[in-house]
Amino acid sequence: MKVYISATLRGFFGRNETFDIDAGTIREVVAWLTDEYPDSKKVLFDENDKVRGFIRIYVGDENKTTRSRWDEKIPADKTVLFLPAIAGGAPNKSIISDDRRKEVSFNDKEIERFGKHLLLREIGVKGQKRIKAARVVVIGAGALGSPVIQYLAAAGVGTIKVVDFDEVSLENLQSQVIHSTRDVNRPKTASARDTVRNINRDIIFEPENVKLEADNIVSVIDGYDLVIDCTDNYKARYLINDACVFCGIPLIFGAIYQYEGQVGVFNLKGGPCFRCQFPEPPEPGLVPTCAEGGAISPLPGIIGSIQANEALKLIIGIGESLDGRLLTIDSLYLHSTILKVEKNCDCPLCGNNPVITGVEDFDYEEFCGLRESEDEVPIEGFTPDELAKRIENGDDITIVDVREPHERAILRFPNAIVIPIGQLARRQNELDPEKDTIFVCKEGKRSILAINTLREAGYKGPLYNLKGGIDAMKDIIFSHEGA
Ligand SMILES: [Zn+2]
Repeated sequence: MKVYISATLRGFFGRNETFDIDAGTIREVVAWLTDEYPDSKKVLFDENDKVRGFIRIYVGDENKTTRSRWDEKIPADKTVLFLPAIAGGAPNKSIISDDRRKEVSFNDKEIERFGKHLLLREIGVKGQKRIKAARVVVIGAGALGSPVIQYLAAAGVGTIKVVDFDEVSLENLQSQVIHSTRDVNRPKTASARDTVRNINRDIIFEPENVKLEADNIVSVIDGYDLVIDCTDNYKARYLINDACVFCGIPLIFGAIYQYEGQVGVFNLKGGPCFRCQFPEPPEPGLVPTCAEGGAISPLPGIIGSIQANEALKLIIGIGESLDGRLLTIDSLYLHSTILKVEKNCDCPLCGNNPVITGVEDFDYEEFCGLRESEDEVPIEGFTPDELAKRIENGDDITIVDVREPHERAILRFPNAIVIPIGQLARRQNELDPEKDTIFVCKEGKRSILAINTLREAGYKGPLYNLKGGIDAMKDIIFSHEGA
């Protein structure tokens, strides 16, 4: 039987993408994988041996994550898919009412501009009026937001609100095609506004230069027809999903990692929400984010364009949306799948007995593991300056680099030994408990996970974290290695 491991999880499976396993059930597949790759247990199961909430196991398009389905016989020609969160096929009825459509009119210029839409039988003048009447919120003016915002503006969406608190940086320009070199250091909302004006001056562009939190998100999205999630972190994704459920707004989800992307439509007319599919985020550091893992330049263009296409389908009311389905695309092998997403009647948000009653009552920091718990032994760390000083003094310390090989290829940490997180427990004898050992990663988060992993494995020596990671230390000791 063929088993496919999604890119974010491959580090725990010897970097393999697929396995051919002699097995007939999920139980046998899991037993084989965890036997062969003991480190994978940590990412697949929690301490109560439950499959972690951000991992789903599919056979074909059937969700078989629940253990009661693990003994079902799997046909040999089917592929088993291990899918993490990265981040209904009923024909559509438009989310824009007829009354609002009837209030819209066009001038001659608009008739010419949107001529190619008017030619399409399914869109026509009525559909184009719905597009002009629509009010859409795009959260994130980065990689996914770039194609989403530009295509919505080009298609004539009447009101586009863009939410982002960030500024454009040079490294953004590899994929964030709504911004240009001259926009570096400008707010992303301002740069996006300029680009949108160049495309279409007639639409209403609403920049919202804020960081979304539980106490402001409802006021930002309430009253809009559609929200498009173009963010890159779990806290934002759950916050956006929950706020959409409370405001009764459908959500178009998109996510990217390296060569792989996901698109889904949630909360459409009482359909499943993001929590129904992925009840829990991974612990911080357990799987790399897109910022840490990178992504090939056109991937957000592909995924964001599909998000924009889904948005137009919902607005016009045509085709079959990704409601209750999740599209995954592996751009490297052009392997794509549409998975069924079922409404979870036990969903704490949209299930039969919801326990989350408002975004302000839910602790997103805690849920996403972003707050250090009090009973844990605090992790001590060095600032980049302190570490640089110890290196300069020639102190007898050990530096362990836990980054992925491709990250090390960009920037090598001098004199560091390299141990991937998955191998730490069994290679702890390579460390000297008499010496100070400092863990480094890109942003200083995975290194904390590494320290916790070693402590759990019983290592007793002094362990330190490089605060802010190698990113914070770049200017101090590194010179770029020639490629
Ligand atoms: Zn739900």
